[in-house]
Amino acid sequence: MREMRRFKQALTPDECAAVLDRGTSGVLAVIGDGGCPYAVPLSYVRLDGKLYFHFAMAGHKLDAIRADSRASFCVIDQDRVVPEEYTTYFRSVIVFGTARVVDDPVEKRRSIDALCAKYRPGFPAERAAEIDGSWDRFLMVELAPERVTGKQAKELMGR
Ligand SMILES: Cc1cc2nc3c(=O)[nH]c(=O)nc-3n(C[C@H](O)[C@H](O)[C@H](O)COP(=O)(O)OP(=O)(O)OC[C@H]3O[C@@H](n4cnc5c(N)ncnc54)[C@H](O)[C@@H]3O)c2cc1C
Repeated sequence: MREMRRFKQALTPDECAAVLDRGTSGVLAVIGDGGCPYAVPLSYVRLDGKLYFHFAMAGHKLDAIRADSRASFCVIDQDRVVPEEYTTYFRSVIVFGTARVVDDPVEKRRSIDALCAKYRPGFPAERAAEIDGSWDRFLMVELAPERVTGKQAKELMGR
């Protein structure tokens, strides 16, 4: 495991979780076609300490995780450019882990429900109908974290 060089800028586990809960998108990095890194933006939800994604039934990212489950997911919490200081006040989190298609229908239902509720809170009946209507046409994918790191610009420390 690689340690963060500027460890004082590291976020705590609770701060990492807060960033992941605030975020509405991130970039999933997988080992794509021919071993070429494939980094693709996605929506997500954090549930039971794992991340869940909604995938189509086919495509580059699905083929990638089926061939090699190793993946990482990066969420940028803040990217404030400060031109006069030639810097950016940043905060971000990276989750490293293994990805797998969710086979269990109960887990699939819970995770898609949580994902939909994150992006459209309320409307449980409408959400259930939407999920039922497209049930066979989507996959849920879990990223089980093995390591989570967060880092912020030194200017944001203590804020
Ligand atoms: C903020 C955001 C949130 C998103 N949320 C979701 C989500 O929750 N679920 C979901 O399935 N998709 C989401 N997308 C779309 C997602 O980025 C992919 O386009 C989509 O999932 C298809 O991926 P694929 O690997 O199956 O595509 P494929 O069509 O199999 O990819 C083929 C090629 O197309 C190119 N490509 C695919 N997607 C992109 C892209 N976004 N940008 C540039 N080139 C691309 C790549 O070169 C890739 O190798 C989101 C996109 C954004 C920007």
